Amino acid sequence: MHEQPGLQDTARRVETCGDYLVFRHYFTVDKVRLHGASLCMKHLLCPLCAIRRGSKALKAYLDRWEVIRAANGVLRPFLVTLTVKDGDDLAERFKHLHGAQRELWKRKQRGRGSVLDGVVGAVWSYEVKRGSGSGLWHPHLHMIALAEHQPDATALAIEWKNITGDSHVVDVRPISQENPVTGFLEVFKYAVKFSDQPPEDTVHCWRTLASKRLIGSAGVFRGVVVPEDLMDDPDGLDDLPYATLFYRFLREKGGYQLNAR
Ligand SMILES: [Zn+2]
Repeated sequence: MHEQPGLQDTARRVETCGDYLVFRHYFTVDKVRLHGASLCMKHLLCPLCAIRRGSKALKAYLDRWEVIRAANGVLRPFLVTLTVKDGDDLAERFKHLHGAQRELWKRKQRGRGSVLDGVVGAVWSYEVKRGSGSGLWHPHLHMIALAEHQPDATALAIEWKNITGDSHVVDVRPISQENPVTGFLEVFKYAVKFSDQPPEDTVHCWRTLASKRLIGSAGVFRGVVVPEDLMDDPDGLDDLPYATLFYRFLREKGGYQLNAR
């Protein structure tokens, strides 16, 4: 591949991501919060930024779910997975999945009968990996769907096949009411599994998907604001005294050095 200066710059930013981490230790309550860091913000290339971003989205949508649940006790969350057939062109397969998801929601809006008719709100995210058998690109999406009754998986598979023309593999399962985090985590984990794929695949995903919105929402989940800032929320600790813990990554040692101030 022809080397581009912009790519070199991005590579340097990702490589040095997290070299500086500043924590505040609120010692009167013994709580630690990440206050500052040198982050690359390339969540499709960098596991550290991906996990920070995912946890911010997880918290924002769990908070909204608590508000919805308090107002409407009959709603339950379901985890819906929609997949498209594997293919060798990631951009084409992603566009296909994205378009099919749009059409599924349009059908619900048109009011002519859709499996999603009972769903009053949803949030979903796109995930990309290579199919385990085919080795071809396998984009799919995981969605939290809120409804009184579980959407029918068989009917959804038929509707999905009707929309996509080539894909019928879907999954619908309830999310634990007592511990919704596990189900929500499925939606807000990485868009790519960094450790499961070679770096060239990660770079290909980034170049193909960097300009795309990988989280979508509808109905009562619309308008949730996920903070851009990847630092910890001080959670009302601001007024308490703290000690600053300054960590610097030492490349030659392969570890962090702490300077307390
Ligand atoms: Zn990063």
